[in-house]
Amino acid sequence: MQWETVIGLEIHTQLATESKIFSGAPTAFGAEPNTQACAVDLGLPGVLPVLNLGAVQRAVRFGKAIGAEIAHRSIFARKNYFYPDLPKGYQISQYELPIVGKGSVEIVLDDGAVKTVGVTRAHLEEDAGKSLHEDFHGYTGIDLNRAGTPLLEIVSEPDMRSPEEAVAYARKIHQLVRWIGISDGNMQEGSFRVDANISLRPKGEEQFGTRAEIKNINSFRFLQKALEFEIERQMDILEDGGTIVQETRLYDANKDETRSMRTKEEANDYRYFPDPDLLPVEIDDAFIGEVTADLPELPDAMRHRFGEQYGLSDYDAAQLTASRDVAAYFETVAAATGAPKLAANWITGALAAALNKDGRDIADSPVGAEQLAGLIARIQDNSISGKIAKQVFEAMWEGEGDADRVIEQKGLKQITDTGAIEPVIDAIMAANPEQVAQYRAGKEKVFGFFVGQVMKETRGKANPQQVNELLKEKLKA
Ligand code: ADP
Ligand code: MG
Repeated sequence: MQWETVIGLEIHTQLATESKIFSGAPTAFGAEPNTQACAVDLGLPGVLPVLNLGAVQRAVRFGKAIGAEIAHRSIFARKNYFYPDLPKGYQISQYELPIVGKGSVEIVLDDGAVKTVGVTRAHLEEDAGKSLHEDFHGYTGIDLNRAGTPLLEIVSEPDMRSPEEAVAYARKIHQLVRWIGISDGNMQEGSFRVDANISLRPKGEEQFGTRAEIKNINSFRFLQKALEFEIERQMDILEDGGTIVQETRLYDANKDETRSMRTKEEANDYRYFPDPDLLPVEIDDAFIGEVTADLPELPDAMRHRFGEQYGLSDYDAAQLTASRDVAAYFETVAAATGAPKLAANWITGALAAALNKDGRDIADSPVGAEQLAGLIARIQDNSISGKIAKQVFEAMWEGEGDADRVIEQKGLKQITDTGAIEPVIDAIMAANPEQVAQYRAGKEKVFGFFVGQVMKETRGKANPQQVNELLKEKLKA
């Protein structure tokens, strides 16, 4: 049987406010356990939560960035469940009336195809504390510092059809929350966590199959692997005539497998009800206008503009808008050189590879935008070939100075003087009479041999086009 994969993601992103969503306790990561949870976060008797305006502003910014309706009235609800890291016995979340309604984002796949993925809703809620297993043997530690940290839960439509699409979508949301400055997106620190819902259905079938939900995935690679594993697992069951149990599963990166955690709760298990301690959130258009007035040009819009203005493919434009830093770097190089395609090739090629190798961010690249523009200018004016430019780039990366200095110091300037190339060709022809005869007898393959010899003799510095022309001329006779 041919199966089709269906995936929908729920992404929890911590909002970068200084204090918690309902209290004044700090949200900073990495403090001594249990030093940053106050009476409100713990839900001690007699305290009342007060909504953090910063969390609302950030949620609204996100809603605008995905073209969603912002609810003028939204409600906080209690989601009741028991877990050691949830001291109140309930989580304050939003249920029936979330602050952000339907929107969408575009993803660009590896083959360059562009797809729109629907966002069903995004709602504000508080994070829970953390259970610690690693340093504890035979018991579990509880750190409540995270309790009450503001979260935006972003729920997608079941629009993804492969692990690749799911990863592209998760990356897109990650890019977006950082782009508009509402979250640091730090996945190691748990600021951005993904729950993946996945099911299979026979190809051509309209109705969705029963899904499993894989909880708390904290890297894009794990997301890909967990989904790949889950497709295999579900397919094996279905092929054997079995049925999928709706349940929550955990991805174990060490074993590269998912394991059943618990059967899925239904919404009514949570006994949702409006939190009587919190007023409805009422916002008007003026407020929405105010907090979204300074939104920067958004990644999808910028990608479209890059396509039109610079003639770049969706794929290249997507890479160059991966972050605002990358986009700014590219536009600086493109403007300085007037050669956007060359700039795009260098940034997505040699520069990306070097950054990746050294684990650096473009913001602290040893070769800055002006410097790369300087190198590209030397390719454009024929001072160096593209091949030599790679060598110059490496030297620049190692801190040997800008392009002109490296070219000068290493004597890499391209030989475009035919008067200098000709004697080299003459000498090579004189030293290889046999090959000359072969070429003249019609064996055109030996032409490459001569090109190679000239390049070797000039240490790659001869202008390749001139070498070709001169060789053709001289070998003809
Ligand atoms: P719940 O209330 O259990 O969280 P939701 O209806 O809110 O369920 O859906 C949660 C997520 O699961 C959404 O991202 C949605 O797109 C996705 N989803 C729902 N049904 C399926 C399915 N059959 N297969 C894959 N994903 C699904
Ligand atoms: Mg849900």
